[in-house]
Amino acid sequence: MQRRAFVGGSGALLLAGCTRAATGLSPALAPGTPRLAPLHLDMAHLMKITVCLRPFRPAGPRLEIERFGEKTVVHNYGHGGSGWSLSWGCADEAAMLARSGGASEFAVIGAGVIGLTTALRLIESGAKVTIYAQEFPPETRSARATGVWSPSSRVALSTAAPTGFAERWEGWARASYAAHLRMIGLVGDPAEFLPQYEVSGGDDGAPSPPAQHDFLHLHRRVRDLTPAWERLSGTENPFAPRDTATGQGMVFNVASYADRLAQLFMLRGGRMIRRAFPDRAAALALGEPVIVNCMGFGAKAIWADAGMVPVRGQIGWLVPQHDARYSLYYGGVNAISRRDGVVIQYYGPNEDFGYGEPDEVADPVETERALAILRGAYVG
Ligand SMILES: Cc1cc2nc3c(=O)[nH]c(=O)nc-3n(C[C@H](O)[C@H](O)[C@H](O)COP(=O)(O)OP(=O)(O)OC[C@H]3O[C@@H](n4cnc5c(N)ncnc54)[C@H](O)[C@@H]3O)c2cc1C
Repeated sequence: MQRRAFVGGSGALLLAGCTRAATGLSPALAPGTPRLAPLHLDMAHLMKITVCLRPFRPAGPRLEIERFGEKTVVHNYGHGGSGWSLSWGCADEAAMLARSGGASEFAVIGAGVIGLTTALRLIESGAKVTIYAQEFPPETRSARATGVWSPSSRVALSTAAPTGFAERWEGWARASYAAHLRMIGLVGDPAEFLPQYEVSGGDDGAPSPPAQHDFLHLHRRVRDLTPAWERLSGTENPFAPRDTATGQGMVFNVASYADRLAQLFMLRGGRMIRRAFPDRAAALALGEPVIVNCMGFGAKAIWADAGMVPVRGQIGWLVPQHDARYSLYYGGVNAISRRDGVVIQYYGPNEDFGYGEPDEVADPVETERALAILRGAYVG
């Protein structure tokens, strides 16, 4: 099957190795179902276009202690295209590092998914925690994510990741997946499973050029966590005559997920203070003895992490379409019908797409083209 490399935020939709193994879940489309409600894929349904920078570190996320005189800083940033997916596992480890010196009062800088989950883990352990951030949900870059389980999307380069990274990553991924599962079925559906369809074609048939950067691909280590995929036969396939694979994928309804994290933190007595830190000295001037740095790409400037690279990604948001709840991948474009909007993302020819691009200005032409490609999936 000809297809572009599917490498972006999602990364979970992989045809390779899809099987007919029993999953315990209903197939995405029951045999004999004549048609799937089509998504309205046009600019008339567009709510907004957002652009975000993946906080990428070639060596992988930075999760370690650094000391500045009397102050202890615990770094938890640089999760690339995997921050939502890996959040809980990294939060567990960051909270453990922060508590290791015996302190009971903590400042967490950052209110993206990494800051919120880390602050929650700390406050659950009985600590006094204040989150300081320039932006809170829904203003953060985390709010602009695709919202799928993609734990190894642009998480590190294989030439730069330290020895033992894969094992450490696997621990984060497994702990995180278990925590995301506990969000299934809660009010607002912070996380849920959606049928996903990966449809062949939609491109010019030419193989995609290989990426110049050797991104580390680790998803196979945790393949056992996710329901297996299957190929649809003609009568089951709503996108026939194109080959289609389907499976159930974990999706994060980012708006309600972030809202729930913030609410849980506040319910446990956490404080949130809006503050922008112009430099490292300002951050170190905080009163708390331990500061947990969850500043995402903002860490590059404040903590002088010169090796950090922005990886640009754009999302077009269509109004929510509750009668068509599934995701569709076709021709290098993904549409995910989340509860908080249908997110449209073009992945580019390979994983280099957006690498080193710090520009967060929206490009409507990219979204318009992506929609045109996707509409082709429904044309018989
Ligand atoms: C297009 C796109 C799609 C993605 N899709 C997915 C996906 O489907 N699944 C997935 O797992 N991941 C995905 N990601 C990756 C994910 O979004 C990031 O890894 C994650 O959001 C990083 O979270 P964070 O909390 O570290 O950073 P952020 O969300 O950027 O939060 C940083 C926080 O620090 C604060 N801050 C920064 N600097 C300062 C300062 N100087 N003073 C005060 N406060 C400051 C900010 O205000 C903010 O509150 C995607 C990324 C992109 C770009």
